[in-house]
Amino acid sequence: MPQTESPSNIIDIRSDTVTRPSSVMRQAMADAVVGDDVYGDDPTVIKLQEIAAEMLGKEAALFVPSGTQSNLCALLSHCGRGDEYIVGQWAHTYRYEGGGAAVLGSIQPQPLDFLPDGTLDLDQVIDCVKPDDPHFAKTRLLCLENTQMGKALPLDYLAQARAAADEQQLRLHLDGARIFNASVKLGVDVTEISRHFDSVSVCLSKGLGAPVGSVLCGSADLIGAARRWRKMLGGAMRQSGIVAAAGIVAISGRGEHLHKDHENAQRLAQSLNEFDQFDIDLSVVQTNMIFGRLRTVSVPTVVQRMKDQGVLISGFGDTLRLVTHCDFGAEDVATVTAAFERAFSG
Ligand SMILES: *Cc1c(COP(=O)(O)O)cnc(C)c1O
Repeated sequence: MPQTESPSNIIDIRSDTVTRPSSVMRQAMADAVVGDDVYGDDPTVIKLQEIAAEMLGKEAALFVPSGTQSNLCALLSHCGRGDEYIVGQWAHTYRYEGGGAAVLGSIQPQPLDFLPDGTLDLDQVIDCVKPDDPHFAKTRLLCLENTQMGKALPLDYLAQARAAADEQQLRLHLDGARIFNASVKLGVDVTEISRHFDSVSVCLSKGLGAPVGSVLCGSADLIGAARRWRKMLGGAMRQSGIVAAAGIVAISGRGEHLHKDHENAQRLAQSLNEFDQFDIDLSVVQTNMIFGRLRTVSVPTVVQRMKDQGVLISGFGDTLRLVTHCDFGAEDVATVTAAFERAFSG
């Protein structure tokens, strides 16, 4: 029998990337009609790209192996050698993608601190747009992230960011790895977010639950350029309809099940915040992510004690990260809380 769920007794909330494909997804993968996507004739990939473009309200979309490659294809398509992009100091594209834009694109990043709500201060953005002068890199692109550490950016902020970008003649890219979590949180169609951006990268492999893949959405021209970069980066695959089929199942759900993940995160955060050892800012638990500082116990100790009880969590510095997802059930809230109680009592 194929394994369709997490190994029993293990609760893995390190990330929402850990979900196992559902039996519906596996069936769709088994049944997928495929071609050779490098020749552009894999019907399942084409269908996924059409669905994604339509849902995000863009002309075209490109299926890529990862969110990292999706963001990189976007940056390489928007910017050339010697151009600059403005980005958050802790943004995934800047911090967690190996410096790909600089290494492979000779694109200079201009990082700025995020404000507590996950936005970038637009006055600061405007201030660091460089004049047209040989001393400076050419500022071309503003890159935002949504959700940013689980926070959904306010819709009116997105409109202001678009206006600022237009005024400064910048393009606007969204690392929308978790854009569906943001749309569910805000109670709006995902196009209310995507419409402000020239390009949007969406992870199928996070909360949406697909095993692999991301889609980059944008104008036909931009996606044409991105397709060329994808080939160069080694991301053009062959019978990739097999994995795209799971992506279709994932994205077609429109992230509706994410409500449940957000509710579970809320309940878990509230119950963990009762512990003296935990310091959780509940106002930033907006979607499926919980960040909690530990007051008295060390992070590695707690991570290990939780692991010994079959609960996998992430920790860095003095902070724990817990992420709910479709393989985490409402009943797991109590199990995880009880495991923390034991971890804290040594
Ligand atoms: C996960 C993630 C990515 C990259 O996705 P991978 O598929 O892991 O390469 C990009 N941006 C954000 C905000 C992410 O959380």
